[in-house]
Amino acid sequence: MEVRVRFAPSPTGALHIGGVRTALYNYLFAKKNNGKFILRIEDTDQNRFVEGAEDYIEEAFRWLGIDPDEGVNYGGDFGPYKQSERKATYQKYAQQLIDEGKAYYAFDTPEELEAMRQRLKDAKADNQVYDSLSRQKMRNSLTLPETEVQKLLESGVAYVIRLKVDREVEVGLTDMIRGMVKVSSNNIDDKVLMKSDGLPTYHLANVVDDHLMQISHVIRGEEWLPSAPLHVLLYQYLGWEDTMPQFAHLPLLLKPDGNGKLSKRDADKHGYPVFPMDWNDPKNHEKSMGFREQGYLPEALTNFLAMLGWNPGTEQELFTLNELVESFSIVRINKSGAKFDIEKAKWFNQQYLKNISNEQLAVGFLDLLKENDVACTEEKAVAICGLMKERVTFPQEIWENGRYFFFQPEEYDPKVVKKKWNDEVKLILEDYKKALKSMESLTAVSASESLNSVLEMHGTGLGKVMQMLRVVITGLAGGPDLMEIMALLGAGEVSNRIDHALENIA
Ligand code: GLU
Repeated sequence: MEVRVRFAPSPTGALHIGGVRTALYNYLFAKKNNGKFILRIEDTDQNRFVEGAEDYIEEAFRWLGIDPDEGVNYGGDFGPYKQSERKATYQKYAQQLIDEGKAYYAFDTPEELEAMRQRLKDAKADNQVYDSLSRQKMRNSLTLPETEVQKLLESGVAYVIRLKVDREVEVGLTDMIRGMVKVSSNNIDDKVLMKSDGLPTYHLANVVDDHLMQISHVIRGEEWLPSAPLHVLLYQYLGWEDTMPQFAHLPLLLKPDGNGKLSKRDADKHGYPVFPMDWNDPKNHEKSMGFREQGYLPEALTNFLAMLGWNPGTEQELFTLNELVESFSIVRINKSGAKFDIEKAKWFNQQYLKNISNEQLAVGFLDLLKENDVACTEEKAVAICGLMKERVTFPQEIWENGRYFFFQPEEYDPKVVKKKWNDEVKLILEDYKKALKSMESLTAVSASESLNSVLEMHGTGLGKVMQMLRVVITGLAGGPDLMEIMALLGAGEVSNRIDHALENIA
């Protein structure tokens, strides 16, 4: 049997990072098994539809390199891949269930439903839901005479179609991660399958589509585990039990401290992203920050997400997407929730940043310089990236922390100044400046050689001036190789900066 898995988001806002992980695991599982990864848009809840949410998902996938094999904009033989375009299909199966006595019409008004809940509450019933017991007192095609049902249907009053769940049936499934899950049908209510607007609910649409799209494995978040027995019942009622997909419910993502579910609120408070990309919600105007805009590399994010809830069974931590495909297996997914350790995400980013070629990094760096109206040759940009990339977590920090490659410092690290700025150093710097003036071009080697000979003249060593010279040139106490920095700045600029320091440091 061909492996066919799907990611089935509802376009109700930005795709949460937990959704991205679900999509990634589906993708990895599909590729590992030479199967297909399908993107299906579950947009039957029209009230919650948010403009742009679908494009956001596709863009996130493009950025991360998780390419669906089938979907609205990806083609495939099982379309349409958007549920709002499959209305007639759901109606057909709802009708089949009605005809076979496995579903029924319910005409209860919101007030009647509320009254029912109140009645059950007053009676201290365990479940205050519409089920095999409470339905007997409600207005539905099981309690009303057939002629009246016909009349009501023809009159155009609002009605829903509910699943007729029988009592005392044990419903079970074997989840690939959680093992055996068993529930008594007494705890499953008569869920609405078709709403009064003629659209299906999630449950019906999801099961019908998984069947028709020949989905072999349903890999989704743990929050859907409580719905799984109902879905199993639906497969049985629709006569599709033999080809029912296997289920795998993924562990929750927890806050970094492990206390509770990962949330946007908590993430905002602590300043880390929980969305792949920036998002401005057109409905509530809420802003969400994205990993992409924060400077995370797609390879780092997929690697980080893959390790949240899965482990390779070895010490290896760094995996390209292809290596993840090779190593992935559902067996190695953990049952317990996964802490969203943002420091680990940063660590992954550093590892990938180090391995990017200087030339590739320079492309983005040059863009950033342009945005800031800073002129720079490609050659210099490449060299700066090479010097800085091991010292930063995010590409933009090359600019943020390396402004001294372009601007003379206006401030000097006060601690170093306090400790190291003295008359002897000033004299050495004066002489170094003179030495530089006579040099045609400055390389890291010549910068160092000439500094050493000045120091020799003064009968002292590097320790005396190195840190202060760094502060004079960059303003900062730390950074990459100072000789390389000076070589990039050139002899003229270095002597100007020494002059500036001599004039400005008290
Ligand atoms: N539309 C559901 C969601 O938004 C899909 C759940 C499932 O994968 O079955 O997560």
